[in-house]
Amino acid sequence: ARRPLMAGNWKLNFDHLQAIAFVQKVAWTLKDAKHDFSDVEVAVFPPFTDLRSVQTLVDADKLELHYGAQDVSQHDSGAHTGEISGQFLSALGCDYVIIGHSERRADHGESDEVVHAKAVASLRHGLTPVICVGETAEDLEQHGASAIPVAQLGAAVAELPKDAELVIAYEPVWAIGSGQAASAEQAEAVCKALREKLAELHGQEQADRTRILYGGSVKAENIAGFMREPNIDGALIGGASLKVDEFCSIARFRH
Ligand code: 13P
Repeated sequence: ARRPLMAGNWKLNFDHLQAIAFVQKVAWTLKDAKHDFSDVEVAVFPPFTDLRSVQTLVDADKLELHYGAQDVSQHDSGAHTGEISGQFLSALGCDYVIIGHSERRADHGESDEVVHAKAVASLRHGLTPVICVGETAEDLEQHGASAIPVAQLGAAVAELPKDAELVIAYEPVWAIGSGQAASAEQAEAVCKALREKLAELHGQEQADRTRILYGGSVKAENIAGFMREPNIDGALIGGASLKVDEFCSIARFRH
């Protein structure tokens, strides 16, 4: 069975001091609840400038919380002003990196090719890419729910090693930040199609092992419904991941 992953994407929120305070509170809350991290994994994705502080806290308090970055450069070094390499993220103890979030695809023109190059760069540095795919409202109308996300997944994972550890996040663009989450049935149908695509490209073994998350207006009140679906293995959470109690309730969806 796949271990669920609850991943908080902070986006452009919290400086490094706020990050320390927030992670401490999450750690205390989960400790009080005797959270079993081997049952449900919990990860946060702070801005780059917070990562060193989060690392220091996680190491000092031996927290079982994982963390990662929200983006990575496709390059390792050189004349790329403003970029952050996978090597730097690995050195900061990151386990994960979000790749191809729809906000980066839309605001920074990230193409499927760039997303693929970033997935390759992540794996080169021992980081697990959290590859985001999802259709816009217009795509949904024109092509249905799964065609675009499945095509994005195909482009992103093309020629990656079959034994690579990947996480896929299905985030319908229309559900992000809208308060209007997909229904559990809608999300399950697309996550199932994504798993089938992964099986077709990389074999059943990788498809069975890979965690597929749902993202888009996930809250404490709707998480349990998503988690009942066989092909949904966790969530990528935006707004609700910025509130200690709500984020912890999502992680504690079984209770
Ligand atoms: P919200 O949970 O705020 O809808 O954001 C989802 C998201 O984009 C996570 O990456």
